[in-house]
Formats: sequence, C-alpha cells, structure tokens
Amino acid sequence: MMKGVMTGGSTYRLVGSVVVGGAVAEVSESDSTALWHMRMGHIGGHELNELYKTGLLGGMKNCNMDFCKFCMMRKQSKMSFKTGLHTTKGLLDYVHYDVRGPIREQSLGRSRYFVLFIDDYSKNVWVYFLRQKSEVFEKFKIWKAEVENQIGRKVKYLRSDNDTKYTDGKFVKFCEEHGIQRH
Ligand SMILES: [Zn+2]
Repeated sequence: MMKGVMTGGSTYRLVGSVVVGGAVAEVSESDSTALWHMRMGHIGGHELNELYKTGLLGGMKNCNMDFCKFCMMRKQSKMSFKTGLHTTKGLLDYVHYDVRGPIREQSLGRSRYFVLFIDDYSKNVWVYFLRQKSEVFEKFKIWKAEVENQIGRKVKYLRSDNDTKYTDGKFVKFCEEHGIQRH
C-alpha cells in the first residue's frame, strides 16, 4: 500500500522509495493447504487430498493442515434451555434424575450405566452405577430412603427429561404411594 500526495488537478505523486532486491512474501505449506480448504468451501480432508493428488491445487506442497477453527465452530451446536416453571424452596423439594450410558469401559463392578440424582435446591449430585437401566427404580428407593433420613425432608417432585425409556409401572406406583409428583 502506498500513500499519494495530491500535486494539483487530479494528479497524485506516490510517496515511496524503490526497494532493491525485491520483497519476499512467504506462505507456509500448511497455510496454502488451509487456503485451498477454505476456497473449496471448507472441504473435508479426504476430498482435499483427492484434489491434491490431481495436481490442480496450485501452490500446495502437501496436504497437512492444522485444524480449521471455522469448521470447529460450525460443528458446535447450541441448545436452548427451557425456562423452568418451578420454584424450589428447600432441600429435596425438586429432584432431577438422569440415566447415562452405556459407557465404553465398564466399571470395576461391571456397570455400564449410571444414574444421577440432582437436588434442585442445593445442586447436590448423587451418583449410582447400574448394570442395567432398569435398576434405576431400585437405586431411587435406596437413595430416597437414605437422603430423607439424613436430611429430614421428603422428596416432593421428581423430574426426568427422558423418563419413558426406563420408567416401569412399579416406579410410577411407588411415586404415587409416596406422594411424589412426577414432572
Ligand atoms: Zn474449515
């Protein structure tokens, strides 16, 4: 970029000097690969390699590219949280539970699932390992008896976002009998 000084009329005189020997702009090999990756609409590594083999991608010496931050950003997903309609006033008023798994490596006790009980008020989390998803109900009963005894309050609401997968009739009936409302 050069600067010009108006000398009269619409004539500009460029302010600059002659560089002897020439200037060299260097582009690293990974930069040129990244450039082609972007030029081709953020093409995948495999496809880029196929094109590279044709020799049509000028200036590209190899197909090694550092990770592309734009591709990373595109792959991230945003999830919105629904506004909760409950107000929790005390311990065990509102309890969330969530079953996760199967996990790739089973635990020492040969469990591949776990359930989390989360107290909405304190955000306290209890974890129990499960061999089968269907063990949720048994673990819930154990957990409920223990925390109610220790805290001196009762579980009032129970919430799960993917409830139907592992809720059997016995679990529902148990909640009804103990006055626990399910959300
Ligand atoms: Zn990309």
